Amino acid sequence: MQSIYQLFGVNSKEQFADLISAKEHQEIIRQHRAELIASRIFPFALLFGVLVPLWGVLDLLFFPTDIALTFIAMRIVSGAVFLTLAYVTKKVRIGMKRALTCLMVMLMVPTLFFQFSTPLIESAELTGMAATLMHLYGLLPYVVIASLALFPLTLKEFSGFSIVLVALASLGLYRSEGGDINMLLVQLWLLLVILGVSMFSSLQQVRYLISQMVKASYDGLTKLLTRRAGMDIMESLFRATGLQQSNFSVLFIDLDKFKAINDSLGHDAGDEVLRQASKTLSESIRRGDAAIRWGGEEFLILLPHTDAEAAKIVVSRIMARGLATLPDGSPVTASIGLAEQHEDKTLNWKDLVDIADKRLYKAKQTGRAKCIAPDGSEVFFPVKEHAEA
Ligand code: GH3
Ligand code: MG
Ligand code: MG
Repeated sequence: MQSIYQLFGVNSKEQFADLISAKEHQEIIRQHRAELIASRIFPFALLFGVLVPLWGVLDLLFFPTDIALTFIAMRIVSGAVFLTLAYVTKKVRIGMKRALTCLMVMLMVPTLFFQFSTPLIESAELTGMAATLMHLYGLLPYVVIASLALFPLTLKEFSGFSIVLVALASLGLYRSEGGDINMLLVQLWLLLVILGVSMFSSLQQVRYLISQMVKASYDGLTKLLTRRAGMDIMESLFRATGLQQSNFSVLFIDLDKFKAINDSLGHDAGDEVLRQASKTLSESIRRGDAAIRWGGEEFLILLPHTDAEAAKIVVSRIMARGLATLPDGSPVTASIGLAEQHEDKTLNWKDLVDIADKRLYKAKQTGRAKCIAPDGSEVFFPVKEHAEA
């Protein structure tokens, strides 16, 4: 089993599972993969949007007029689809579903072009340049399958694409070979070899993307998201359509008297407290929420689709679990500022974080070991001895 993992450049079952399916991918990885796919579709869509209709000049020169005109009509439709794709992948906010749909549409255009061109060309006896062009169009299915190698796709996604594409290509190839099964087998063999190479490349891109993202996005000590990654997530959450209509809460958390812990117990003990506190934080939130190490002993919790009342329940849960315990058994507390975009009428994440920061400051000023909510109400840690120090 280990050697299978090594073949794919991964070290564990979980990492291997991430190559098979996107089900367990983190939100930040989904988003980056969607953006990467879109950014690779864009230049091709733009180029083909222009070149495909222009190529019609050659059809007009070398094919009989009726065939050429049908081709040109197909080319204009294809060009329009490509330009639409270029627009969508550049201008519209892209999620994973939309990115995959765009990719499918982009691959279907040449595939369908090939389907429709085969019977057209069959009906005419073509020679010279027209026959050469016809052979060129016959290569389209190979180009399509090979181009899958450009995109970071999981095995499931890749299989979905290739089943449709290979089925349609086989149909077209069968017809263009005049029903000759042997020739079809030769063509299919080549198609499958290209498919295998593309698949390997596609999976490797997913692997590379995930390993780079994990390195760049997670803090080494606490395993929480880094500030940079957290800002990216907020940026994209706030751009997400629908979120403006929905509740969005943030918790700004700063450990109390942390410097004293470092000073009395040493830096390593301080690090251990940070690790424990981070574990509590990440275990107290749901999938879709995010825990960020904002600074040294400051954390930000993002709670999309959560109003202030529900956020207070998350706060109580964190307090009940306890952030960390010192060797003498006393609990580590924190001061927490809670802000919510509707109640605080904020339009961007920076303002929201600022307001949460101000409430955190107020919690520090007024006794620590508590959370202050937008309506001024307070949630307290169950045990408060440590905060009185
Ligand atoms: P307050 O209750 O007012 O927040 O008091 P505090 O002592 O927590 O406040 P302050 O922000 O002054 O102290 C933060 C300390 O956190 C200072 C810094 O040495 C320590 N710190 C920052 N990053 C790390 C880290 O990665 N490991 C450890 N052990 N300590 C860190
Ligand atoms: Mg601090
Ligand atoms: Mg502090």
